[in-house]
Amino acid sequence: MPLDAYPEHILLTPGPTPIHPRAMHAMTRPMLGHMDPEVFALNREIQDDLRVMYGAEPEGFTALLAGTGSLGMEAGFANLVEEGDEVLVCANGSFGRRMAEMAARYGARVRLVTAPLGEAIRPEDVAAQLAHGGDIRMVAVVHGETSTGVLNPVPEIAELVRGTGALLTVDAVTTAGMEPFHMAEWGVDYAYTGAQKCLSAPPGVAPVAISERALARYAARRTPTPLWYCDFEGLRDYWTRHTYHHTVPVNLHFAFHAALQAALEEGMEARQRRVQQVGEAIVSALKPLGFSPYVRRPEDRLPTVLALRLPEGFDDAGVRQALRKREISVTGGLGPTAGVIWRLGLMGEAARPGPYRALMTALEDILG
Ligand code: PLP
Repeated sequence: MPLDAYPEHILLTPGPTPIHPRAMHAMTRPMLGHMDPEVFALNREIQDDLRVMYGAEPEGFTALLAGTGSLGMEAGFANLVEEGDEVLVCANGSFGRRMAEMAARYGARVRLVTAPLGEAIRPEDVAAQLAHGGDIRMVAVVHGETSTGVLNPVPEIAELVRGTGALLTVDAVTTAGMEPFHMAEWGVDYAYTGAQKCLSAPPGVAPVAISERALARYAARRTPTPLWYCDFEGLRDYWTRHTYHHTVPVNLHFAFHAALQAALEEGMEARQRRVQQVGEAIVSALKPLGFSPYVRRPEDRLPTVLALRLPEGFDDAGVRQALRKREISVTGGLGPTAGVIWRLGLMGEAARPGPYRALMTALEDILG
C-alpha cells in the first residue's frame, strides 16, 4: 500500500499515543553509528533526563532497553529474581498478572495480592502478606493498571516494603512522564515504562531506572542473568563503559530524547494538570450520553487512562467501528470488561482538548 494511503488516525487509545512533533522530527535525522561519540553524548543526556523524570538517586542507573514496556518488565525479573526467590505480586488486572507470569518464568515462587476488578490493591493486604513470614525478596506492583483504569497506592505500598529487605519493582508505564514519580523518595528499586505511552515517542524503547540497592542485589546473584540481551552488566558495558553490547536503535534514541526533553520543559506538575483538566472535561461531556466512571472510588482512578462504563444498551463494537471510519481510534475493555467499558487514553499528546472535541463531534453525529 502506498504510504499516503494509510489513515491518519486520532489515537485516543491507552497507547500508543500520538507522536510528539519534536520526536517525529528527531526520528528522521540521518543515521549515526551506535558507537559514535555523539551518540554516547546523546545517551548520557537521556540517562540524566531519565533520572529527573523518575526522581531517581544519582547512584542508580538509568537506560533505554531496545524493546517495549514488556521488556522493561521482563528485564527486572530476569536480573533481580533467582530460582526459588519468593516474590509478592500485586495483581488487580492484566498487567499485574503479566508480572506474576514473568516472575514465575524466572523461577520465582509467586505470592499474589489481588483486588476485585476496578478496585485498587489495599495496602493492608500487602502488609498482611509481608507479616506472614517467609523471605519475600521482591514486591512488584503496577502503578496504573491500564486494563481497568485503576491507580494503585504505590507510595503507601513502598512505605510498607521499606526496611523489609525486599526490593520494590514498579510498573510506571501509564504514570512516569505524565505524573510526578518519586523513585528515590518512595523507595522504588526498579521502574520501567514504554516510550509510546506518557512521553509520546515511538514504541521500541523502554526507559528503566535501577536503584543502587537493586544493583547490589544483581551483583550478588548466584547465577548469571538468564536474559543475556538485558543483563544489567551488559547494559552498563554499553551505556557506561561505551563498549559494544548490541546495536541500539539510534533513531529511536533521538526521538525519545526529544520527547523527554519536551516533557521536562513542560514540567510534571503542568502535565498532571493538563491530564486532570482534559479528563474532567471528557467526563462532563460524556455524562449526558450515559457514560460514568467505572472505578468507584475517585482516589483509585488512574488519571491517564479514563475507564468509563458504557451506557445501557450501547453498541460498543458498532460505535467504535463507526468512529474508526472517521479516523478516530477508541479502545474498549479487556477480557471481563470487554463490552462494559471504554478506556480513553490521556497520556502525552493524547491529553489535549482538540482530539477529544473531535471525538465528541463524531459521537454526536453517530448517535444522532
Ligand atoms: N504495563 C502496563 C501497565 C501497560 O499498560 C502495558 C501496555 O499497555 C505494558 C506493561 C506492556 O507494554 P508494551 O505493550 O509496550 O510491551
